[in-house]
Amino acid sequence: MTQFSFISHLECPKCNERYEENKIQQLCKCGSPLLVRYDLEKAKKSFSKEELSKRPKNLWRYHEVLPVKNKEHIVSLGEGGTPLQPFTILGEKYGLENLHIKDEGIIPTGSFKTRGASVGVSKAKELGVTRLAMPTNGNAGAAWALYASKANIQATIVMPIDAPLITRKEVYIAGGDLHLINGLISDAGKVVAHLVREEGIYDASTLKEPYRIEGKKTMGYEIVEQLGWKVPDVILYPTGGGVGIIGIYKALLEMQELGWIEKGKLPRLVAVQAEGCAPIVEAWKKGEKESVFFENSATCAFGINVPKALGDFLVLEAVYATDGCAIAVSENEILEAQKQVASFEGNFICPEGASTFAAAKKLREQGWIQEEELVVCLNTGLGVKYPETVEIQGVPILQPGETISAKSI
Ligand SMILES: *Cc1c(COP(=O)(O)O)cnc(C)c1O
Ligand SMILES: [Zn+2]
Repeated sequence: MTQFSFISHLECPKCNERYEENKIQQLCKCGSPLLVRYDLEKAKKSFSKEELSKRPKNLWRYHEVLPVKNKEHIVSLGEGGTPLQPFTILGEKYGLENLHIKDEGIIPTGSFKTRGASVGVSKAKELGVTRLAMPTNGNAGAAWALYASKANIQATIVMPIDAPLITRKEVYIAGGDLHLINGLISDAGKVVAHLVREEGIYDASTLKEPYRIEGKKTMGYEIVEQLGWKVPDVILYPTGGGVGIIGIYKALLEMQELGWIEKGKLPRLVAVQAEGCAPIVEAWKKGEKESVFFENSATCAFGINVPKALGDFLVLEAVYATDGCAIAVSENEILEAQKQVASFEGNFICPEGASTFAAAKKLREQGWIQEEELVVCLNTGLGVKYPETVEIQGVPILQPGETISAKSI
C-alpha cells in the first residue's frame, strides 16, 4: 500500500528550527507560525497528475501533501472541488478578457474556512486533542465548531458581537462553547490566549496551529488543476489573517517541487484589503517586511477585519516573491462590486470576495493587469451569509387584489 501522507516535519520560516509532526506543536520558540513540510521527492514517485484525475473532487484528493497520516481520522463533509468559472460579462465591463471566479461559497458552511477546519480538526483528532479554543471573525468559528462537533472535540469560540449573526448561530447549533466580545478579533484573541495558558487547551487561533493553512492551500492546487495545470497570471485574494494567500503561495511552490508546474514564473499574488483595515497594504507601500497594528479598523467585509496578522511577514513575502501587490478598496467599491457580480453574473458573493473584483477593476484601470491576462478572483464565501450588506429600497408592497405592470426595460 502506498503511503497516505508524506508529511515529514514542521519548520519555522523565521529561524528554521524543526519540530516533530507527531505531537502537538503551536508556535515556534521564536514566536513565528510553523509550516508543514513534506517529503516531496518521495511523494513524487506515487503522486502524479494522472493518478489525481481518477480521484473524487474534494480536497482530500491531495492527501499525499496533507498532514493527516491515517485516513480514519479524516473529518469531512465533502469540502473542496469548488467551481472555477469565467465571468465574461463582468470581464467585459472591466476590460478583462479572462476574468474568473474561484467560488468558495459553494462549500459546506458557506465559506472557504471549511477547508482549514476540515484539515485542522482532522489533524487535531489524530493528535488526540479533546478541547480547542479560537478567536474568530465568524466564519472560521462556525466551520471549526461544526467540524469539531463531528470529531467529538469541544470547541470554545470567542467572536466579536458585530460578527455576522449567522456565524454565531452556526456555532450555537453545533453545540460550541460560544462567547461574544464587545471588541475586535484582537480582543477575542487575548481571551483565548488566557484560556489556553490557564487550561492547556489546544490553541486553534489563526496560524497558532500549523494545519489550517494546509487545508487552505488546496485552493492553490485546485485553481491550477482546474486550469488544466496552467498557472494564472494574477490571483486576487481578500486578505485578513492571510492564511489563504500564504497557503496558495505554499501550494505553488510545492507543485513546482512535485514537477507539476514549471519553475520560474508564478502568478502575481494580490493581497486585497478594505481601506478601513489595510495593515498589509500600508506595509507593502513602504516596502516593509512586517505590518503595524491598524488602529480603529472597520469594514463590512468582516472576515478581513484583522488589524495585525501573526503571519503578516509571510503574506508580504508571498506578494514580493511573485511580483504581486497589495491594494485597498473602499466600502463603496466593495458594495458596488458585490452588486455587479450579482446583477451581471447571477452570483451573490460575500463582501470579502467582492473586494477582489473591485481590486481587479482598479488594477486594470491602473494598467497593472493587462486586458488578456488570466485573472482569478477568490470569492471566499456566500453572500447569503451577509444579508445586512444589501439595503433594499423602493420595493412596492401590494395589497391582495392589486395589479401591477412590469418595469419597462
Ligand atoms: C476569514 C475570511 C477571509 C480572510 O481569510 P484569511 O485567509 O485569514 O486572510 C476572507 N473572506 C472570508 C469570507 C473570511 O471568512
Ligand atoms: Zn522560529
